[in-house]
Amino acid sequence: MKMRLELFLVLTAVISAAGKPLSKAAAGNKLLLISFDGFRWDYDQDVDTPNLDQLAVDGVKAKYITPPMLTMTSPSHFTTITGRWVEDHEVVHNMMFNTKTNLKVPHKQTLTRSEWWDNGVLPLWITAQNQGLKTASFHFPGGGANYSGQAVNRVKVEAFNPDDNETEWQQNIDTVMNWFSKEDFNLVTLYYGEPDRVGHAKGPDHPDRKTIIRQIDRTIGYLREAIDLHNLTDSLNVIITSDHGMTTIKKRPQVDEIILNKYLNLIKLASFEILDYGGFGILTPRPGREQEVFEALSNAPNLTVYKKNQIPESFHLAKSERLPPIVVVADLGFNLNSRFIVYVNKGDHGFHNGEMDMKTIFRAFGPAFRRNFLSEPFDSVHIYPLMCKLLHIDPAPHNGSLSVTEEMLLLHGGGSRRASVSVTLMLLMMLMFAAL
Ligand SMILES: [Zn+2]
Repeated sequence: MKMRLELFLVLTAVISAAGKPLSKAAAGNKLLLISFDGFRWDYDQDVDTPNLDQLAVDGVKAKYITPPMLTMTSPSHFTTITGRWVEDHEVVHNMMFNTKTNLKVPHKQTLTRSEWWDNGVLPLWITAQNQGLKTASFHFPGGGANYSGQAVNRVKVEAFNPDDNETEWQQNIDTVMNWFSKEDFNLVTLYYGEPDRVGHAKGPDHPDRKTIIRQIDRTIGYLREAIDLHNLTDSLNVIITSDHGMTTIKKRPQVDEIILNKYLNLIKLASFEILDYGGFGILTPRPGREQEVFEALSNAPNLTVYKKNQIPESFHLAKSERLPPIVVVADLGFNLNSRFIVYVNKGDHGFHNGEMDMKTIFRAFGPAFRRNFLSEPFDSVHIYPLMCKLLHIDPAPHNGSLSVTEEMLLLHGGGSRRASVSVTLMLLMMLMFAAL
């Protein structure tokens, strides 16, 4: 009898807990997404990185992940935060451009230009807010724009100050931790401009790149201490990733650099171009000159030229309305130059996403993640449904698949919180009947 009474009490408690709608925050759905721009997948392998190594023990590490074509900051970050391919979200370059007016706006000045970002695809911040969550973007590309008239709840847009100030990096973490712990934010995206800046300026093999990786590692150590200090260990999940890798740019006398004007008269044949921008270039031929442009560029060595409608499907670019009719992708390490060689970047990206140098990192830890779990490589487009699952929200239409990433979660295979409550209930009821 005593046994039966105890069971009855437990059952009543479980039923009332299940019947009470758990508030989203109470369910522990807090998520921090951090991006370190241009963190090549293997940057931690020739540097001592105790904190990154500990993360792999305490959480999930993917061998590497593949960014979308285009391997550039804005297109790739926007794929991560929308789960859409570039041809669907239409952020097709770091620069905002208009092929008709010849307008070209540099990356940092695009960050608050909604007309560049808002093309009918809702990023995670807005979808989460529409389902009752509180979200913020700290320097994350796309966070400063409005989508269908809606802004992200709290936004800090990247300014023009240096990207590598370690004290500032820590202050940014303190700010974000306060948002989670004192103001109950559910989703914060945090962006750092390194190691991309050093990778461009010095090249991926330069000792300064190793120095910045050590700084990133210390920052991750600082983050973990801050999570403990703010009592967020049991409620905050963290994903650390990046947008693309980096490769050393080949220069004379090692190679002959690409100068496109050697193969076609750009002024005569093209009305619009962005060509001096790493490994990826775009052109609008003058009326009736498309075939001529295509054939002239096909003769140039160390690059591949595509008519937009012939771009391989695996690039997920051909459907874009924004992309001009001709797209040029240089071979790894060859930067595109239109007329002159500008010896600025020693490292660059924008190359084919199948190249190992373009692959990037994925790490995750927190209460929802398995420990010491090494994930096979996957496409970054699949991070989006994983984030929706962690936030307990319904995703907007996307090109990712949760089945690719859910293996890294503790409760996977349909193991939602609600499902496990139902299973517990059933078991208890069976016990009750057995006891009766
Ligand atoms: Zn870059």
